Amino acid sequence: MDGRKVVLCMSTLKEYKRVMEMTAKTAFIYHDDYLGYNFGPSHPLRPQRYKDTFQLLQKLGIFNENVKHYKPDRANEEDLKLVHSEEYIRSVEKKCGEGTGYLDYGDTPARKGVYVSSCAKVGGSILGADLIMRGDVNHAFNVGGGLHHATRNSAAGFCVFNDVAIAARHLQQRHGVKRIAIVDVDGHHGDGTQWIFYKEPVLTISLHRYGGGFLGRFYPGTGSVDEIGEGEGKGYSVNVPLPRGTFDEAYLEAFNEIVPPLIEKYDPEILLNQFGVDTHYQDPLVGLSLTTKSYVEVSSTLHQLAHKVSDGRYLIFGGGGYEPSNVSRCWALMFITVAGVTPKNEKMYRELFDKNVQFQNPEVLEEVRETITQVKKTVFPLHNL
Ligand SMILES: [Zn+2]
Ligand SMILES: [Zn+2]
Repeated sequence: MDGRKVVLCMSTLKEYKRVMEMTAKTAFIYHDDYLGYNFGPSHPLRPQRYKDTFQLLQKLGIFNENVKHYKPDRANEEDLKLVHSEEYIRSVEKKCGEGTGYLDYGDTPARKGVYVSSCAKVGGSILGADLIMRGDVNHAFNVGGGLHHATRNSAAGFCVFNDVAIAARHLQQRHGVKRIAIVDVDGHHGDGTQWIFYKEPVLTISLHRYGGGFLGRFYPGTGSVDEIGEGEGKGYSVNVPLPRGTFDEAYLEAFNEIVPPLIEKYDPEILLNQFGVDTHYQDPLVGLSLTTKSYVEVSSTLHQLAHKVSDGRYLIFGGGGYEPSNVSRCWALMFITVAGVTPKNEKMYRELFDKNVQFQNPEVLEEVRETITQVKKTVFPLHNL
């Protein structure tokens, strides 16, 4: 083959990839059952945000032959058992049937309807995994998913069943996927997911607020740089703890320095992404200071990475977010970025962005840069980076 032909092949391949990216299909996964994930009128998690996001996307005019809404079936007990013990599943069903007390130590009330709704949410994440693995779509977003605090035997922090971990187990056991990367950008540490895979070579990366809360602790209190996994999992748990007030520039520096190199090196067959938006500067629970700029850049970078290393396979879950009107517009922006669509309602699209807010804090920036250095020193050598 002469030089000219090689150049031609290269450009054809590039063009092919570009066309593939343009015609990628994206699923938005939502069921009205998600509205049953209701912990009562004074609880910060408002299930209406799932429906609000769906309706906002409809009003924006983004659904077409390549971007479709899918309704999940409820997960069954076999699905839940991929991660949770039978005893725990039974106790959730029983307590929610009675509708009194808590499923954990006081954050997650046992309310009627929560069990059924939890099964619908897990079903949504499994549906996303199936749609992607069958090749029906390239990207999927389960707006009701991302319940990353739940562990094998317990609910925690508003999370009943860990649908992120269940989707990953489903991918391993029912689709034979070997290499799974999970990026968690919720404002809280993705602790449940981390502990479930702590001794396995499943790459879990979590960026979250750490410390500085009540008694110097911020929920759930874990997620320091030195939690790196154990045994075969050593080096595969990656934590990026961030101080209160971390703003776009500092956050994006940490994200861009740490996440893409690790993902590219790990070379996953599919990219999973918990996309909690309680990192927003107006969120009442977390105290980080991100704006929509970060959500667009993070989702754009992960989307490009998925096309580069995982043949476009990119499964996204919702998560935290406690100021309802912000949650729907932040998720809408992320979804539009990933789906690569131009909303028909341009004016409404422009209104999704935060305007005239820009945070700066040299001390925070310095602290974040120290953390970046620490993560690189602790984890990168384990990946020959
Ligand atoms: Zn794409
Ligand atoms: Zn959170």
